[in-house]
Amino acid sequence: MKIHTLRCLIIALSCCIAGTAMGQRFASPNAKAQYHRSRTVDVKHLKLEITVNIRKGTVAGTSELTMTLVQDSPTLNLDAAEMTIQKVQSGDTELSFTHKSPRLTVTLPKGSKRGDTLTLKVSYEASPKRGLYFVRPDKTYKKRPYQAWSQGEAIDNRYWFPSYDFPDDRFSSEIAATVRAPYEAISNGRLIDVTWSKKGWRRFHWAQGKDHVNYLITLVVGDYDEHPLKGHRVPMSVWVNKSHNKDWKRSFEKTIDIMNFFEEYIGYAYPWEKYDQVVVEDFLFGGMENTSATTMTSRTIHDERAHLDFSSDGLVAHELAHQWFGDLITCRSWAHLWLNEG
Ligand SMILES: [Zn+2]
Repeated sequence: MKIHTLRCLIIALSCCIAGTAMGQRFASPNAKAQYHRSRTVDVKHLKLEITVNIRKGTVAGTSELTMTLVQDSPTLNLDAAEMTIQKVQSGDTELSFTHKSPRLTVTLPKGSKRGDTLTLKVSYEASPKRGLYFVRPDKTYKKRPYQAWSQGEAIDNRYWFPSYDFPDDRFSSEIAATVRAPYEAISNGRLIDVTWSKKGWRRFHWAQGKDHVNYLITLVVGDYDEHPLKGHRVPMSVWVNKSHNKDWKRSFEKTIDIMNFFEEYIGYAYPWEKYDQVVVEDFLFGGMENTSATTMTSRTIHDERAHLDFSSDGLVAHELAHQWFGDLITCRSWAHLWLNEG
């Protein structure tokens, strides 16, 4: 994630000064201690089958988790914040559960034991206030497009789908998102197919084959044009709202050079199926390094005059570097987040 270099520097310096003055820990005196979470499950695969209504600001469907139990326990906990859980199933069997946001506690089928692999399907609906953000036109900005975009880091993906939302577990993932045409849904990994599901609605099915972490799962919905960047073995695209078609190139044209530099300098080939950069309106940060599909702020797109004093190269390079540092090599807990940014 890139917030602002200067602000980061000031925070880093304050941490140094505080650390030196106290003569002890390298941490701000106000820093909250971060603890590792002890796992009851090892998630293998997550599949979301959801309908996203970007005009109403809702998401509804199922989150299906295939996992192995790593403890003998009659229940397991998932993260599911501020949403309505309708039912939890294992195969055709409905399981009992209690939901006290953000914790969903599921009673496992009788006889379940450590080492067993099972698939839980959680049916839910939500009107997320965090995690998945809805952008729409208003009185003061009539041309703002309708969009929805997610921001999972650190623990906000639990506001739009139930899962295991902590960085110490990696799993493959699939998102099948049904959205009203002409909107498109963009996510991690490879686009398997696009099908018409009901009148005027299309289902975009994305799959990420290589394991990654829950907070890096992304979904962007909007009226997008895809601009492929040609000339590299990794398929790369920049996705923008039509209003940016004139100026997007200035910000992203060096992506392939930056990719070539990192592959050579790190000595490890880019590890994911593709690299998309998806430009969204009103983003909270400069960029967010979601696995294989970075979200970028539209504020980085600029005209020829501004280009004399401004460049997006630093942002593009920062987010691309995270595809190795943070995404391929991951934190065990949030106490280690500085390793991603370092
Ligand atoms: Zn970053």
